[in-house]
Amino acid sequence: MARSVGSAESPGDRDALNTGQVYIICDSAVSGVEPKAIMSGTQRVVRWYPPAYDIRVEDAPIPQIIDDDDAIVKVILAGLCGSDLHIYRGHEDVDRDLICGHEIIGEVVALGSSFCPDSIGRPELYSTLKVGDKVVSPFTVSCGECHFCRIGFTCRCKHSCLLGIPALPGGQAQYIRIPKAGGTLFSLNSHHVSSSRPVPDLSTLSDSSLLLLADILPTGAFAAIQALQHPKVAPILIGAKYPFGGFVAHRVTARDQTSVGLQAEDRILTIGIVGLGPVGICATVSLLDMLSGLAESQGLVYQIIAIDPLESRRSKMEAVYDTIHSGGKAWTGRFAVASIDDGKKLSAEWTDGAGCNAVLEVVGNNNALTLSYEIVRPFGIISSVGVHQEPPLPFNGRGVYDKNVSFDFGRCPVRAMFPIAVDILLKRQDVFGSVGEKASLIDKIVPLNEAPDAYEDFDKGRCGKILFDPWR
Ligand SMILES: [Zn+2]
Ligand SMILES: [Zn+2]
Repeated sequence: MARSVGSAESPGDRDALNTGQVYIICDSAVSGVEPKAIMSGTQRVVRWYPPAYDIRVEDAPIPQIIDDDDAIVKVILAGLCGSDLHIYRGHEDVDRDLICGHEIIGEVVALGSSFCPDSIGRPELYSTLKVGDKVVSPFTVSCGECHFCRIGFTCRCKHSCLLGIPALPGGQAQYIRIPKAGGTLFSLNSHHVSSSRPVPDLSTLSDSSLLLLADILPTGAFAAIQALQHPKVAPILIGAKYPFGGFVAHRVTARDQTSVGLQAEDRILTIGIVGLGPVGICATVSLLDMLSGLAESQGLVYQIIAIDPLESRRSKMEAVYDTIHSGGKAWTGRFAVASIDDGKKLSAEWTDGAGCNAVLEVVGNNNALTLSYEIVRPFGIISSVGVHQEPPLPFNGRGVYDKNVSFDFGRCPVRAMFPIAVDILLKRQDVFGSVGEKASLIDKIVPLNEAPDAYEDFDKGRCGKILFDPWR
């Protein structure tokens, strides 16, 4: 636990922390820097009130260390995300007010007593993270130690908790408490990474750009990789007839007297993207990066149809594509941005009526799922990262049986996706590096007190990605 000023560590400290005293936020022998103390006073936060559409900017207590594995992070920037809108609109069945936000970049100002140089057998950050380090936090807690974390399914950690719910106040605030911080946080201080693992230099990137690692860039990359790693896509990627594109029993080979071999046209990969909000753009940029790599290394031919009903979102996607397309290497694939009707037409025209091999669904409602199902081909895959709610899915058993369609739903394991997301972030600074330009993913950075308007504008589709600077 953190140590109270002027007193020895004792069981009473935990209670002292909860009664609003000044406290030391890190042991200097552990952190290597002078301990700092912050007042357990108040901070500015964005708070949502039920039932819906009620956002207020208020004072709230500064969060404090309550568990040995906690870190307190001073928020540098916080994102406003499409999934914040589910709460905003009252779709999440939350009946208590809450501090919003789950995307943050910040600076560590306090660490629990688990953080010490001789921490053994635990995630690396428990022995290396220091007060003053800059960190990005994924939008869910992941301990880094349970089965799900060890295997890479970090969003389903045994200790998983979403930031920005009543039980864990969010990051649209000046400070936030991060549980299981040694497993959850990503340190941007490269000296904390062991020399055996070379890491790219992130020090040149802007804070606003790095914030995208908290959720939307890993989530977009996850939507893409979930489709490309699917066994039903494997025959096209490696040119082997199903089921010989994946695991088969030892010594069984593909002998077939009943059909001709794969033709060139069988190896064209067509992928639809439904929803071109900020996550949809991240998914498209990630997919383009992955497919262009496959085109280069394996001669893959690909086609992408990016679909959104909103003209403003289609324009942003076109500007993003033009920028990356003209920024050097010419990409060989076919690419179109389309309305819903045009998207349906193209998915038929470009595939001789078969439909898309895979569809990335990045919206999270039944209209988006219905469209995805319509444009996917038999033996296709729908990779859905939209946050779906309670209504029943718009399919019945016969429908999905008759199409042999595969669905992958769910939350992105952000912490596991970091290496891939960092790679894409570094490559695509032309899209992710700037703010407010024609091809920028991020529209603007505003003070916390503009949160009510920002939520309303984002909800109405009048703006793209907005970040909050809680110190302006
Ligand atoms: Zn988010
Ligand atoms: Zn875990």
